[in-house]
Order: sequence, then structure tokens, then C-alpha cells
Amino acid sequence: MTATETIDDTESRLVTPSRVIGAIAVLSVFGTLLLWWLGTLPAESDAEVGREVFGNIPDLVVAMFYVMVATFLGVSIGLFAMRARSWQRGSSETRALDFKRRLHRFRQGVSMKTVMEDPAAGVMHSLMYYGFLVLFLGTVILEIDHLAPVGMKFLHGDFYQWYSMFLDAAALAFLGGVTWAAIRRFGNPPARIKSKTRPEDAWILILLAAIGVTGLLTEAARIAVVGRPAFEQWSFVGYPLSNLVPTSSAAGFHQGMWIAHAVVFVVFLVMLPTTKLRHMVTTPVNLALQPRERPKGAMSEMPNLMEATDIETVGVSTVAEFTWKQLFDTDACTVCGRCTAVCPANQTGKLLDPREIILKLGTVAAQTAEPPISPTVGDGEAITVSSDNVFELITSEELWACTTCRACDEACPAGLEIVDKILDMRRYLSLMESDFPSELGKAYVSMENSFNPYGMDQNARGDWTDQLDFEVKRLGEPGVTAEYLMWVGCAGSFDDRNKNVTVATARLLHKAGIDFGILAAKELCTGDPARRTGNEYVFQGLALQNIETLNDLGVDKIITQCPHCFNTLGNEYPQFGGNYTLMHHSEILSQLVEDGRLTPTSTGETIVFHDPCYLGRHNDIFLAPRTIVDSSGVRVEMVRNGTNSFCCGAGGGKFWFEEEKSDKKINIERTEEALSTNPDIIATGCPFCYVMMDDGVKEIGADETVIVQDIAMLLDERT
Ligand code: SF4
Ligand code: SF4
Repeated sequence: MTATETIDDTESRLVTPSRVIGAIAVLSVFGTLLLWWLGTLPAESDAEVGREVFGNIPDLVVAMFYVMVATFLGVSIGLFAMRARSWQRGSSETRALDFKRRLHRFRQGVSMKTVMEDPAAGVMHSLMYYGFLVLFLGTVILEIDHLAPVGMKFLHGDFYQWYSMFLDAAALAFLGGVTWAAIRRFGNPPARIKSKTRPEDAWILILLAAIGVTGLLTEAARIAVVGRPAFEQWSFVGYPLSNLVPTSSAAGFHQGMWIAHAVVFVVFLVMLPTTKLRHMVTTPVNLALQPRERPKGAMSEMPNLMEATDIETVGVSTVAEFTWKQLFDTDACTVCGRCTAVCPANQTGKLLDPREIILKLGTVAAQTAEPPISPTVGDGEAITVSSDNVFELITSEELWACTTCRACDEACPAGLEIVDKILDMRRYLSLMESDFPSELGKAYVSMENSFNPYGMDQNARGDWTDQLDFEVKRLGEPGVTAEYLMWVGCAGSFDDRNKNVTVATARLLHKAGIDFGILAAKELCTGDPARRTGNEYVFQGLALQNIETLNDLGVDKIITQCPHCFNTLGNEYPQFGGNYTLMHHSEILSQLVEDGRLTPTSTGETIVFHDPCYLGRHNDIFLAPRTIVDSSGVRVEMVRNGTNSFCCGAGGGKFWFEEEKSDKKINIERTEEALSTNPDIIATGCPFCYVMMDDGVKEIGADETVIVQDIAMLLDERT
């Protein structure tokens, strides 16, 4: 067994996604032919205001049309079935069976809500998508009316005129969207689009334009053929165009355009599954598949490595070791590059490009599928792989550059989960290949031997309490209990700057009368740096000991100043039987301020708050720290704040090894952004952000005028 449980019996199962889609392909062929036969039965309506379906089109051409559409519809859906065979190679993964959330995400997909985060792209896509959808529905309505018995036909009179007007408006919107897309992509596109523009993008736009143009010309010619009756003026585009069609050649021109329209539609059917056009289908489906039980901040679960005896490999390196959903993701990618544009590693010149991670996985999956399928995006240069090992294309340097900030996942309009893939690959690098930065090796040894990555004396964990003028309870000592455990974390215990945060937090809790205690030497590193760097073995060793301590002491409520501890204790320890109610110190302190149990006096200083990734994007805590900032001074915001915040560079275990050489350090980029708001104070709520921003201010030379503080220090000084 591998650590990522595989489902090697997929092929032996009777019902698989590829077989279901294949069956739909067969049914669609017969269904289309059935429509053809049914269409020969009823007579056409002789309504004065209406249209004859297939008027001026010879029966033989109509027959060829139905056979051609049936065939290529089957081919199109069959090609999707082939892609499904590739997704099925992945290991199992259970997603939440929450249909309400699924429907909600699906609706967000088809309503373009996720694309609208970039308004220009959103409006452009909406024009094309809705225009296309209305035109397609118009064709379906026409077919239904065509098949209906004479007495039940409805496409005539006022309804027909409104129908005509609506479809012409849709065609204009569709063509407007296509033109906009062409200008956007081939005019002066953003770098993220320009870098991945391929010939297939041009072909897709030409095809879409051809669908719209031939549709309108077919309509214009049809109106010319029937003598331009006044009621056709409701076709406000087709009618004026019909004036350009000479009456003498109208019939022939109409037949030619009709055939051309049918042919481009058939080409569309083939290009839908084989080019990135497929995201019309796969992106909304991927959004519907997105809801999962696992919290955003939790890495995927693994077997207990201390007990399991049948583990052959850890993490992922081959296509089959990724989950089916991770493989499906590659087909849902729109190649928009929004992930790349927000990636702190990429934006400061590191090798990592989250979009490339997806595309490279997609390329390996596509080339090793049987039979091979087209990759996520058609690549100019031929990229070939000799095996299904993703490390043929993805380098360890790319993966180690990730801060796991989650900005990419948050920005992705298609609901892809990029961080999970990077972390799963890191697990393989770390435990199967021992391919990790050398400084990490020292941190691992320190975590194993000293129970903290600093390599400090574990018995000194509670020494910070010497700075207080009151006693702090130590849970585990005889008869000592407390309502809350204050989980200090390694930085808060051993890092000199962060010990001030710990002291401030304890002082505030004491002042507000909160009954709390600490574990002192019984508290071990949560294991977060080990887990984020792929060393599940060290992580589990620490996590299991901590859970045993916490459960033995009956701990229920935990306060911590460290978002990484908050995330690991609250979101990941449940995977191993540790279930606790977590509060970040910003949550309880802001509550105490709101309840009037802490009464700070604002100094009126300008304070800019930097959102820690593991507090904000990973755990959706944005307001609590701002409540504290607001009570302490005048808050200003950076352009990138909240869910769009920019990482400090320390997450994902990167605090423990040197940042890759590049144009700029991530903390300098973020500190410059903070300084651009002209603050007196840069506030944050994470021990590692605190150090990174403080180092940044010093490196830039702004430490004479600007100070960096944790929100607890802010509050303590003013209370
Ligand atoms: S998690 Fe952050 S650093 Fe990692 S790929 Fe995504 S955006 Fe880049
Ligand atoms: S992963 Fe998402 S954000 Fe990145 S290119 Fe693909 S669709 Fe766009």
C-alpha cells in the first residue's frame, strides 16, 4: 500500500466515469438520429409570422447534417470519456457530499462570479458564454418546435418576433465578446496571458467568430430567400444584412452559409474536448466538485507512520499517486495565470510558477494516458516525457520556493487546489528522496531532539514568565486546572522578539481576568514546519505526543498567538484524534475589547495591518485583528489586504531555510508595500510575520521611523 491510498480496481468496476460518459456518447448518437427521423414526421406550420425549419435546404443535405452532427457529437463526448480514463488513473479522494455547496459553486461557475474577480475578463467571458448559451438554447427551441405536431407549434407570431430579436442580440453580444477577447489576447495582453498564448488560442477565437458570423449570414440569406417580409425586421441584424444578398443568388448563398455554419459547429464539437476550450464544461464541474470536508488549512491526511507497516511510498511522484481530483484539476485549468500573478515566489523572481505546476502535471498525465490525450494547453515546443513521473518536468527548486500562502488557490477562478499538489510532492521529496534544503535538515534534528526547531533547551520554554509580576498556572502540576490553555508556540517561547508578544498576551489575559495556564516544558513544537516541508514522520512524532499530553490533561479550549499553531492544532490534530476549540489571540483579545473588559486608549498613530496567510486565507480571520488595530490607532490598509494579502515569505517552513536567490526577497516586497502607506506602526498577528516584517524594516533602513509590533503588544501598551 502507498501512503496515498490508490484505487487499482477502477478498471474492474462496472460503473466508472469514463464508461458513463462513453454511454452518454452512444446515446447522443442515437438520440440525434432519432431527432432526424422524428423531424420527418410532422408537417411544417403555415403560420404567417414564423419560419420554415430547413427551408431551402435539400432533404439530402438535412440527412447529411443529422448524420454528421450525430457522429461528431458522439466523437466529442467520447473524447471526454477518454480524458475521464486519464482522471481515473488517480488515487481515491472523497469530497464532501454537500449538494447545496456543490450547487452553489456550480452556479458561481456558470454565472461567471469567479471570473468576475477580474472585471474585464469577467465581462468579456460573460458576453461570449451567455451569448453562446442563448444561441444554443435558441437552436434547441427551434428543434423542439420543428418536432412538435402542427397543433402544438409555438414558434410563430409575437413569440417568434421576440425570439428573433433576442437571438440577434445574443449573436451581437457573442461576437462582441469574441472581438474583445481577440484584442485582449493579441493586442496588449497582461504578461500572464501573453506568456501562455498559443496558436490554439487564435484557432479557438477564429472558430467562435466563424460560428457567430456564419449564423448571422445564414439568417440574412434565409430572410432574403423568403422575400424580406416586414415581420422579419425584428431580426434587427439579419434583416439589414439581407439587403446585401442579391435576390438572384439568395437561395444558393443561403445553402452555402447554412452548410458552412453546420461545418464550423462540427469543428467546435471536436475542439471542445481537445483544446483548452474544454474549460467551458470542466471548470463549472470542477467548482461543483470543490467542496470538501477537510478545512482549507489542513494538509491531506496520511496513515499513522509510527504504526503502519505496509507503506511503500510517501507523497506523490507519479500520475497515479495524485488523486483523481488533482488530475481533473489539470483539465479544468483555464490557463489564465491569475495564480501566477499573485504568487509571492513568482512575483519576486523565483522559479516557481503555480500555473506551470498545473500545466506540467497536465502534460505528464496527457502524454502517459492510454491512448494519449491532448495536454491542458497546446505547447509550442514539443515537450516529451519518458515516464509518468512528474519530476521529469517539475524541479525540486520550484517546489521549495512555495510559501504555502494559498494566494494561488484563492485567486483561481476554476477552483483548482495548487498548494495541496505542491505539498504532496514535497512529502515525496522530503521522505523518499531526502531532497530538501540543508538548513531544513538541522531544523528536523532540532525538532526531533529538542522538540523545537530552534534547538533550544526544552526546559527553558516557560522562562518568559519571569518577566511577569504575577504567577502563570502550569497545567500538569498537581491540582492545577484552567479554563484556557495558552499555547505559546516555539517562537513565542524562544525568540527574543516574540517573547515580548507572549508577555503582552499573558498580561492582557490576566488583566481581563481570563483563567488560563501554560504547558511550559510539556508543550512541544506542533510539527507545522516539518509537515509543510514534507517530513510527515517528524510531524506525526510531535503531533502524537502533544495530543497525548492535551488529552491526558483534558484540555478543551486553546488560545494561541501563532496562526501556524492555531492551524495545526485546530485543523490537523483532529486527523489524529486531537479535537480542541482554538482561539487565535486576536479573537479573544478583540472580544475582550468589545466587551469592555480591556479598555485601550487610542494614540492616533497610523497603523497598517499585514494579514498573516495562516490567519487570513487559511482560516478566514480578518476582522478580529483589525478590531484591535482600530482600538489602538488609525488603521490604513495596503492595496493587497484581506484575502488578497501578500505573504511575508516565512510560511510553508520557509522561515527555516534560506530564500532562493532572486530579484527580491519576499519580505522586502511586502515591507515596501506596507511602508508605502506611511504608517507609524506595521502591525501583524503572527510570530513569523513579525520577524520577517521587522527584518524588512531594518534592511530597508526605516526602523528609525516605523516600528513593527504584534497586535498584543499594541494593545498592551495602550491598556
Ligand atoms: S501557495 Fe503561495 S507561494 Fe505557493 S504557489 Fe501558491 S501563491 Fe505561490
Ligand atoms: S490554476 Fe487557476 S488561476 Fe492558475 S492558470 Fe489555471 S485556472 Fe488560472
